[in-house]
Amino acid sequence: MKISKIEHLGIAVQSIDAVLPYFENVLGLKCYKTEVVEDQKVKTAFLKVGEVKLELLEPTCAESTVQKFLDNGGRGIHHVAFCVEDGVAEALAECDGQGIRLIDKAPRKGADGLQIAFLHPKSTVGILTELCEDPNK
Ligand code: ZN
Repeated sequence: MKISKIEHLGIAVQSIDAVLPYFENVLGLKCYKTEVVEDQKVKTAFLKVGEVKLELLEPTCAESTVQKFLDNGGRGIHHVAFCVEDGVAEALAECDGQGIRLIDKAPRKGADGLQIAFLHPKSTVGILTELCEDPNK
């Protein structure tokens, strides 16, 4: 597959409101959008760092995988999202062919208008990996 850039870093937080002052007032970044992604049970907030985005992830309920991540002692970086040039479906097929465990068998709609799919951290050296494409590009 051909990865063009890191699309965003997903950062797990218990409360977006509680951490935004750090990102905005200390780092001087600006939150340009918040969005609830129902099927992932998260509220997201996006900030731009040059070409790359930070995606803050706040669980919306106890069953959220982000809540489980936090409950298991996870902090900070939750996943790394790569932009794939030939599309998520093709990248998934390629990963599947190489024996990589897929969380998503097909692309689905993610936050910020992207088509996304996750690869399992057990197959990706411990890093939850998201593949993305912007269908409007
Ligand atoms: Zn993400």
